[in-house]
Amino acid sequence: MWTIDDSVNLYGVDGWGNGYFSINGRGNLAVSPRKDAGEKIDVMEVVDRISQSEMASFPILFRFPQILEDRLKEINGAFLASMEELEYQGGYRLVFPMKVNQRKEVVEYIVRGGKDLNVGLEVGTKAELLAALSLGLDPDALIICNGYKDQDYLKLALKFGEANNIVIVIDIFEEIFDLLRCSGELGAKPRLGLRTKLFSRGSGRWEESGGELSKFGLSTAEILESIRILSEKGMVDCLKMLHFHIGSQITDIRKIKVAMNEAARIYAKVRKVAEVEYFNVGGGLGVDYDGSKTPTPASANYTLQEYSNDVVYTLQRTCDEEEVSCPTIVSESGRAIAAYHSFLAFKVIGKKNSKDGFEVTPTEDDPVQIEDMRQALENMDLENYAEFYHDALHYREELFDAFNLGNIGLEERSKGDLLFWKVCQKAASFAKADENDSEEFESLKKLLSKKYIGNFSLFQSVPDMWGVQQIFPTMPLHRLDEEPTVKGTIADITCDSDGEIRSFAGENSDFLALHELEAGEDYFLGTFLLGAYQDTLGDFHNLLGCVNEVHITVVDGSWRISKIVRGDACEKLLRFFNYDPEERLGEMISRCCLGEAEREKAMEAIRTALGEYSYFKNRYLGA
Ligand SMILES: *Cc1c(COP(=O)(O)O)cnc(C)c1O
Repeated sequence: MWTIDDSVNLYGVDGWGNGYFSINGRGNLAVSPRKDAGEKIDVMEVVDRISQSEMASFPILFRFPQILEDRLKEINGAFLASMEELEYQGGYRLVFPMKVNQRKEVVEYIVRGGKDLNVGLEVGTKAELLAALSLGLDPDALIICNGYKDQDYLKLALKFGEANNIVIVIDIFEEIFDLLRCSGELGAKPRLGLRTKLFSRGSGRWEESGGELSKFGLSTAEILESIRILSEKGMVDCLKMLHFHIGSQITDIRKIKVAMNEAARIYAKVRKVAEVEYFNVGGGLGVDYDGSKTPTPASANYTLQEYSNDVVYTLQRTCDEEEVSCPTIVSESGRAIAAYHSFLAFKVIGKKNSKDGFEVTPTEDDPVQIEDMRQALENMDLENYAEFYHDALHYREELFDAFNLGNIGLEERSKGDLLFWKVCQKAASFAKADENDSEEFESLKKLLSKKYIGNFSLFQSVPDMWGVQQIFPTMPLHRLDEEPTVKGTIADITCDSDGEIRSFAGENSDFLALHELEAGEDYFLGTFLLGAYQDTLGDFHNLLGCVNEVHITVVDGSWRISKIVRGDACEKLLRFFNYDPEERLGEMISRCCLGEAEREKAMEAIRTALGEYSYFKNRYLGA
């Protein structure tokens, strides 16, 4: 009997869920927005209520603001715990880097949820700075300005820096001249940071962000020169922060230890000549997307507590050795803050690669290969399946040749195809029973796998799956108390063959275990951990737009929908790409409609279509 625990293991929920996701007793996916508070939301309850009330159609991105808040508390708590244990004489400030998710609602939840913890923001462009300034942070909360900076950006930061805690980080050496010029012009004293270029690098996919060849950062010679220039102007006291960032998703804790060693040493040396207040360790804190707890790209081989222990310990030890005071530690752990808070729920609207429904009827004058193929199918067993499968491959070749030479017709060819398919299925099941994992039978499994079609766009909702082949856990939202008997991949509704989920968390990473579709019943899948980088990196391939968003919070032990953000209607998408949908409409309609009434009806139909969601409506195409 299939149990819920079997599903927990199969989909690896405990591995990647980090306490926020689990499977409940009804076989549905459950969310615990406040990990330790114990409330569990049955996702299918939410799905049912939304479907019944028709308040929003799928695909829907579910956001859980309380998960964001929980992440802030957990990361902050880990650092405070490390500091307490090691009796660290300095503070900690968590900062959210806006490039991880610039959506206003998301940043607002972070600012609001992080108020008591004094959570700040990091920005990398002028527009991000403007967005950050619009959110009404406390004057004491850090706003850290990174990235390439033109004069507008610098002046904005300087101007608002007087009344706010804005630190302008010099990311490339030459910026210091522009900054000093702008600061002179405005008569505004900057609060400055220097980004150091470390010799050590990160690990994983974004390894190139660190090391000597990295795009940003000052060499030791440039740091010394910057300090000399500041001293000359009597502005050394403006230097408030040292910063480093060795790349996102650091998969191996050893890389963090090595980088911390180097950066802490640089801090200690600089601290002897300038009263640097903040030591900013950047981002990189990994998220275990596949739940494997290994240093592979979709995972990380360390815990949050291990990370904060290493950062705090290394810094303290170095400061003690060098006899300098301990700084306030700043971390910009964007991915670790945002990843968990959202997931995409979508319906399966059909399946491909299924010849199951077709029957083969033998006739007298079938060519001999078809008869042989039928024999192979009938007489196959655990002993001979490999041999008979090879025979069938051969018969199929012969049938193709015969077809290409014009010796057999479409009827015979199709019969051969169907029989071959049945042979493959039977051979694959014997191979499974035989635990035959030879390459030949592994690729046979691939051939037999199904493609379920999901009503979503990979390019819009999971862009990193396409761009950098990142794994995001995907699994059914319900029926988790039933054994999933189908193996398949998930194609999206774009016309692009790259729009397909082909890598999965868990053991058999080429396929997802799926349930048979049942006529008239909706089947829902979810793709998880989408809160970091996916929201604004997504694009409009095939003019599929932003999805509907439903925000869920727990109040007094029960869940409620706290906000709905409408996805893009077709008209908005057209206008975004400079179409004027009404421009030629009259002309087009006159071309095909004669009477006034008919024209009016056509106009109405187009207006309705323009107002509609760009994804499929709630319709099931049948199995
Ligand atoms: C991208 C970036 C971050 C965020 O990194 P995560 O790995 O998402 O935590 C932090 N700091 C800087 C300077 C960045 O460029």
